[in-house]
Amino acid sequence: MEIVKTVEAMQRTSEALRLAGKTIAFVPTMGFLHEGHLELMRVGKAHADTLVVSIFVNPTQFGPSEDYDRYPRDTEGDLAKARAVGADIVFFPAREEMYPDGFQTRVQVERVTRNLCGTARPGHFDGVAVVVAKLFNIVKPHLAVFGQKDYQQLTVISRMTADLNMDIQIVGVPTVREPDGLAMSSRNKYLNPEERQSALCLRKSMDLAETMFREGERDALAVRQAIEALINDHPHTRIDYVSLCDSTTLEDVARLGDETLLALAVKVGATRLIDNRLIRD
Ligand code: AMP
Repeated sequence: MEIVKTVEAMQRTSEALRLAGKTIAFVPTMGFLHEGHLELMRVGKAHADTLVVSIFVNPTQFGPSEDYDRYPRDTEGDLAKARAVGADIVFFPAREEMYPDGFQTRVQVERVTRNLCGTARPGHFDGVAVVVAKLFNIVKPHLAVFGQKDYQQLTVISRMTADLNMDIQIVGVPTVREPDGLAMSSRNKYLNPEERQSALCLRKSMDLAETMFREGERDALAVRQAIEALINDHPHTRIDYVSLCDSTTLEDVARLGDETLLALAVKVGATRLIDNRLIRD
């Protein structure tokens, strides 16, 4: 496995691969790799000749009061995991390599960023869009793999790729979970044992919505209120949002249709967790 640290070296490597007729799959991550990331890598590997993984904690997607400085990092562990899964290249740039002095370009995807984490984390998706656009230009992949755990992020990237005619196939991978249903996340490491228990309110909320839907409930407010009550019954929780929304536009709906996205963001202690499920027959 090759470790590449500069933009120029990565671009040269990718160009050479392309000239040799090799296809490139790309998995962008912020590191502290877990089984969810590794699953994306396996999917990427199955679809292309070469798997490139990036590890970069992207400062532009963190708000001023968020956890950029204390975001968990484990470079040696990450490299060992990426190697074990069969990554061919890890792109591991420094902050100054990605954002040199003078950087001033924005990439803004409009409507699908207005709701959910777009409201809760102003500017977050501008940071995501610009770093992914840059990484696409650096890694030059044929396909890029993202997790459905970050449903809105996947929607934003798909929209950006289509709108800007980037010739890259975007592949979404179902959320990988702990045995008790908690979605794997690098941030789970922040949870103490009590908070870890309370964090199950996200999975229970999604189960509750599904049960209510199956029993005929179609009123989004009724489902939302039931979920809010369930979450508030769990200690150390603070709801950021509970949204029932259209699975394409991500706009809130008043009634559940054939397919509705339930998206949740809950602070458990100091840790913000997100999850989602498509509610449908
Ligand atoms: P992150 O390192 O959190 O920026 O995530 C990098 C990629 O891994 C994104 O495409 C995430 O959606 C994806 N991802 C994170 N957690 C999971 C999970 N539990 N299951 C599947 N994909 C995930």
